[in-house]
Amino acid sequence: MKLSEKALGIKPSSTLSITEKAGVLRGEGKDVISFSVGEPDFDTPDHIKKAAIDAINEGFTKYTPAAGTVELRKAVAKKLKEDNGLDYDYTQIVISNGAKHSLVNALMAIVNPGDEVIIPAPFWLSYAEMVRIAGGTPVIAYTKAENNFELSREILESAYTDKTKAVIVTTPSNPTGMVLTEKCLREIADFAVEKDIIVIADEIYEKLIYSKDKKHISIASFGKEIYERTITVNGVSKSYAMTGWRIGYTASSKQIAKLMASMQSHMTSNPNSIAQMAALAAIEGPQDCVEDMREKFEERRDYIYDRVAKMPYLKTLKPEGAFYLFVDFSGTYGKKYNDTVLESAAQIGALLLDEELIAVVPCADFGMPDYIRFSYATSNENIKKGMDRLEDFISKLK
Ligand code: PLP
Repeated sequence: MKLSEKALGIKPSSTLSITEKAGVLRGEGKDVISFSVGEPDFDTPDHIKKAAIDAINEGFTKYTPAAGTVELRKAVAKKLKEDNGLDYDYTQIVISNGAKHSLVNALMAIVNPGDEVIIPAPFWLSYAEMVRIAGGTPVIAYTKAENNFELSREILESAYTDKTKAVIVTTPSNPTGMVLTEKCLREIADFAVEKDIIVIADEIYEKLIYSKDKKHISIASFGKEIYERTITVNGVSKSYAMTGWRIGYTASSKQIAKLMASMQSHMTSNPNSIAQMAALAAIEGPQDCVEDMREKFEERRDYIYDRVAKMPYLKTLKPEGAFYLFVDFSGTYGKKYNDTVLESAAQIGALLLDEELIAVVPCADFGMPDYIRFSYATSNENIKKGMDRLEDFISKLK
């Protein structure tokens, strides 16, 4: 039987498959330390859980409007005004099943067959597959480590064609942890307006910034023209340790919001009613839980960066946000681990898992085949143990 060519062309998520493999080894009784998953190890704060329990007890267990409850959309609009200086009416907000779903909605609402979407590399691996799911073509625009992975007009120009429909901008970044500067964001905004393309701004890590001289800036806040052509994506997964609740959202023009809500009404209907009540408590409730987690991540960032920066052969930049350390392993190529000559990050990732029992994410699918991503969203104890094992691996290289 001839199945969907589009579906056959989609690669499964390599981060999820590493997590699965680590799970299998753990099931065999092996003490695997995982640096692979991109989710906070903290528990969802109690007041958020309570809001969900109350929702169940009060019978808030039925369909809601497909785009989410008016109350939650209003709360998101208020948050965007207060935190990001963005003016949205609640009808411009669409609540979805996680930011992943919001991103797919956004792409499905704007992409026609043959349209190109620029994805600056290194990039979160799902973007390329999401563009394909929407029927478009991902075009990768490579940034450089020596420029802190900053995107520039020149790099955008090199990827731009008359088929370009949109560019995806992620700050803070998964996998690099870099936070784009205002200058860079203004350059991207000017480019988008001039070329009449849409910006999908993924701001899911906005609350997790550590460098004192960096702050989160929403690209849509630069003026009417860029506001009109930006789809801002955010959610509660990373800031409030709510990955399993599956609530994300978009803020966009009314026209695009209507398209997304309409597609969603046929595909998934509303996001889970109980999780929407939890997200409302997260967004409207006390924010000190976010700062507590941010502080803990900052401590871990400092520790893991210091450890890796001291190891021979490895190169890395100090992450400014999110919870990933992005490490260049090309300095180890040609060295031997036992009898194996090292030649790629993918091979090194497999060795680290099988021989040293640390699960990491080799970044070929993120557009950077010499790099490995370490998520430090795990306990201080695990990070220390994992870094001891990495150091051990490096010390065995000949
Ligand atoms: N955007 C980026 C850059 C991410 O790293 C992730 C999750 O890893 C998401 C979006 C998806 O978030 P959610 O869990 O809300 O779907």
